[in-house]
Amino acid sequence: MANPALMQNYGNRTLTLVRGEGNYVWDDTGRRYLDALSGIAVCGLGHCHPAVTEALQDQAGTLLHVSNLYNIPAQEQLAEKLVAQSGMDNVFFSNSGAEANEAAIKLARKLGNERGHAVPRIVVMEGAFHGRTLATLTATGNEKVQQGFAPLPEGFLRVPFNDVAAVEKLAATHDDIVAVLVEPVQGEGGIRVPAPDYLQRLRALCDHHDWLLMLDEIQTANGRSGKLFAYQHSDGLLPDVVTTAKGLGNGVPIGACLARGKAAELFTAGSHGSTFGGNPLACRAGLAVLETLEREWLIERAAALGELLLAQLRAHLDGCATVKEIRGLGLLVGIELDRPCGDLVEQARAHDLLINVTAGNVVRLLPPLTLSDEECGRIADTVSTLIQQFTQCAA
Ligand SMILES: *Cc1c(COP(=O)(O)O)cnc(C)c1O
Repeated sequence: MANPALMQNYGNRTLTLVRGEGNYVWDDTGRRYLDALSGIAVCGLGHCHPAVTEALQDQAGTLLHVSNLYNIPAQEQLAEKLVAQSGMDNVFFSNSGAEANEAAIKLARKLGNERGHAVPRIVVMEGAFHGRTLATLTATGNEKVQQGFAPLPEGFLRVPFNDVAAVEKLAATHDDIVAVLVEPVQGEGGIRVPAPDYLQRLRALCDHHDWLLMLDEIQTANGRSGKLFAYQHSDGLLPDVVTTAKGLGNGVPIGACLARGKAAELFTAGSHGSTFGGNPLACRAGLAVLETLEREWLIERAAALGELLLAQLRAHLDGCATVKEIRGLGLLVGIELDRPCGDLVEQARAHDLLINVTAGNVVRLLPPLTLSDEECGRIADTVSTLIQQFTQCAA
């Protein structure tokens, strides 16, 4: 089963998907699955959305790559669109989420170096996920991700998620903090939604101490939360740095690090770069995604679908004592059980449904924003029934 030509870092994979269209994917035996995971929050427009396919085909026949030694019109257009819709000032394009976060970490380090800190500190959260490069796995709050990769880079301080007082306390003991890095909703950590005023209070704290508020929206942005960026749920709030990736290319690798104010001025010629980052193909995909989100009202749709899915799950699982919490924001939905539930992934597959389990005991649903009401109902029905059977709860 496992191909010896591949490094075995993904474990044993048992399903081979060969085609996708809309909210469905097909395996190599021709079996069709409803996709409630979207390639881990990537294919928000569904698979092979015609607008993306068309843009890619057009660009593939025009110009694929020139390097960042030259102006790239699609890169400029995508940057202008992101800046206009985010309230940020400028953008650096990468090829992945981790790389977008690396750019954010380098911005914080640059500010710290300018301020004369020998080891500038970035405050990060327990349960966070920021990627698999050395700096981002160090920022990640999961020892399993870090195990075996010593020495880890220094410069990170960790506090509990959704605990502003813990961040405030650090200010008393550290005069070398330069930034706070946080996900508006923790994705890999189990769809953890903080208190509604969490970001506003972190913003105030960062303003008070002259720290950068850096948001990791790799998973939460691109409409999935019911806003283009999840911080837009917090009235008037703007971060100093925000990163995104996953949904931005609908499957084409692209990441973005957006900055504002003093953070937007930190990189100068030669500070940072990428051979592939912001190439014409990836940026055409990003433009097609943003245009489609707008044209098809998919961000508003994500907000409505999220509420529908949460309401249906809560109705089905009401009184099921093995369900600890059902939570979410838009189409980031988690169902926390009282036990490890990785087996549910295989069981859902037997019902032609793709789901995910994260943090051991949280069923994670990240369906496409293009879901129909009927498909939303099918996901809620199937997942609820499987949870009731798996945990033997009489709901
Ligand atoms: C997926 C993810 C990353 C890492 O993105 P890659 O493209 O896998 O490098 C970082 N942060 C968050 C919040 C993510 O969900």
